[in-house]
Formats: sequence, C-alpha cells, structure tokens
Amino acid sequence: MSKASRRSLLLLIFLCLFTLSSSVFAQNPLPKATPSIASAASEFIPKIPPRAIAYQRERRTVSLIGLAWGLAGAFVFVKSGLSRTLAKRLETPKLPPPFWKFLLFFAAFTLFHSLWTLPFGLWGWRLERNYGFSTLSIFGYLRDRLIGTTTELILAPVLWIALRLYTRSPEHWWKKAWIGVVPLILFSIVLQPIVISPLYYRYTAMSPSPLRTRIETLASKAGISGGRILIESTSSRTTHVNAYVAGLGPTTRIVINDTALEKLPPDQLTAMMGHEMGHYVEGHLWFGFAFASLGAGLFLFLIHRVFPLLLKRYENFFGAKHPAELSALPLLLWIISVFLLVQAPVESGISRVMEHRADRFGLQVAGLHRATAQLFVGFAERDYSDPDPPTLLHFWFGTHPTLKERIEFALEDPDDTPAK
Ligand SMILES: [Zn+2]
Repeated sequence: MSKASRRSLLLLIFLCLFTLSSSVFAQNPLPKATPSIASAASEFIPKIPPRAIAYQRERRTVSLIGLAWGLAGAFVFVKSGLSRTLAKRLETPKLPPPFWKFLLFFAAFTLFHSLWTLPFGLWGWRLERNYGFSTLSIFGYLRDRLIGTTTELILAPVLWIALRLYTRSPEHWWKKAWIGVVPLILFSIVLQPIVISPLYYRYTAMSPSPLRTRIETLASKAGISGGRILIESTSSRTTHVNAYVAGLGPTTRIVINDTALEKLPPDQLTAMMGHEMGHYVEGHLWFGFAFASLGAGLFLFLIHRVFPLLLKRYENFFGAKHPAELSALPLLLWIISVFLLVQAPVESGISRVMEHRADRFGLQVAGLHRATAQLFVGFAERDYSDPDPPTLLHFWFGTHPTLKERIEFALEDPDDTPAK
C-alpha cells in the first residue's frame, strides 16, 4: 500500500470512528428537569414517550454515520479505480476538458455517490415510515432521490467555469469566480420556490375562511401588504408539521404545510404565522443571501489555497497532477463537503439568531404567548423533536433555539394581549 493510500485509509478510519463516537455521545439523556418550565403549568412541559426517545436516537445515528459514510464516498470512488478508468476513457489534452466530458464525469460521480449513500437514505426513510411520519412509498422515495440527484447536475457548469478560470488565471481565479457566484446565489434563492420546490410539492392559494381572514389581519398588522401565503401539499410525503418563508423579491412567499392546517388549532397556527411573518418583515432571507455571499468568497479563497496543495500531496492516489483534470474532481467535491460541514456551526448560529428574532416578532405581533408555547410542546410530543438536544450537536447543527428555550421564551411574559 502506498504512503498516500495508507494516509487516506487512516483518514477514513478516523472519520468513521469520529462519527461513531459522536453518535454514542449523542445518545439523548433522559429528559432533564427544567426548573423554569417545571415552575410553569404542566401543560407546557412536553411529555416525551420512550418511543420518541428511541426515534431521536435512531435519527441521530442515521444522520451522523450517514454523514461520515457520505464523506468516504469520494475515496471509494477513487480507490476502486472507477475515477481513473473513467477519466482515462474521457482523456483529452485540453484543460479543463470540454464541457460534455466534464459533465459525463460529474454525472457518473454524482450517480455513484447517490448509490453509495442510498443505504442510509433508505434507513432514514424506513425510520420515518416505522414511526408513522413518512407517507411515501419506497417508489416515491426513490423517485424523489432521482429528482434530487438530477438537480445536483446544475452544479456542473458552475464548477466547469470555475476550473476554466483557474487554468487561465491560477492566482486570481477565485476573485473572478466570487463575482460570478454572488448573482448565482441570488438566483438560486429567488428561483428555488418556483423551480425546485414544485418538483416535489403542489402549491395552492389559501381558500377563503375565517382562518385566512385572521392571518390576513395579522399580516396587515405586521406591515405586510399583498404578501403571498401558499399551502404546500406536504402530506404527500410526511405528516410532520411546519411552515416557512422562501424566495426573494418577486418570489417571496410564506408557505404553510397542509399538515399544519389539518393538525394545529387556529391559535397555534396564527402563532406560527406570526413567527414566519417575522422572517418576512425583517428580511431574513436577504441576510441569508448576504452571509452566503460572504461565505462563498471565503470558501473560494480556501479552495484556492487548499485544493492544489492537497492534490500535490495525494497526486498518486487521485491520479491527477492538475486541479482541472477530471480525476481531481472527487477531491474538489470532497473539500466542498468538508467545508460545508466545518462551517455548519457558523451557519447554524446565524440561523438561531434569526429564528429567535422571528419568535420575538411573532409573540409581539400576535400576542399569543401560551399558544406559541403549546405549538412548541406539540413539536416535541407529536413530531418527536428533541426539546433539549445534546449541546455539541445543537451547537453544530441546530438551526433553531431548542424547543425548551423557545417554550421558556414564549412564557416569559405569558400575558396574552396582542401588542398595539
Ligand atoms: Zn423560522
């Protein structure tokens, strides 16, 4: 075994051990006594059945081991000889290779990776089925996966252009790529709800009802005029309850899952809409865009420094000398995945701040403190969300304050009089 492949094997083992140990670490302790909630009425203390704890444990195990498994995929693609064989077949003296050759190699890698991670995808789907959350058949799940894998091909032209810039200007390519990537991020946020989401769900306007009138009154109080509120056919895939804000500028919309409409009492639904209106009014998606654009610059700079260095070091393993060669692509894609994982605490931290602000806005505009707390209790009791997840996991991946924190915050001033 060569030095490079021994190193990569060690790295692989390390990644697997790290993930295994963190999934053990992530075992949820029994629900802790929470003094501030405990002092409130018992209706605000989520009753967590053992079944929910088993669900949370298995979910964490699937996600964490699946994460390490996914990262190992690029190495297996190279180690198995697939990468070299394919690169040889598409061999060309041009750097980067013509786009169609690049696209073929990228598509082959994407397909391989999708198959490589399929066992964990199926495990996750099975888990959701077993607990009565997923409404997808196995064929439905595989169809969604195929759609997801196909849409990943959108990345191919972006990467190809970046490699072209690199071959022309190895020192300054990343600044030019940054300038190009910012409008792409903007487009992707603007187009996401009208191009990608409809591949999975149907969106319809809310039909006239006392609830719609109530939401409209709340919207005008929140300073939203002519905002779009759409119902998503979420129940075609899951019974989980949610709502969200998507799009930017002309495509901005507040989306309510049909599952929320069906399951939540009007007060809780109104409280949830107050939260979503907070995102809308405070323009959180614009903040998201700004952070993503800044992050992209940092990321491109890091690729600029790290990618050629790692390639030089593991040249024999990957079978590539130049970053624009096809057989160097698995390394580039691996670096992208690692970067996304490493930056997750920053992204999650920013998200938690915005979610907390949206909670505050919702409480101020709707004034439904108790209904808001009950909404969060429901996420724990009905959807089996962990109200108090392990600290490290929450720090790394928690996009919202914990349910326990959110319940406490909602009850800080439980006087249900809406602000003027
Ligand atoms: Zn939110």
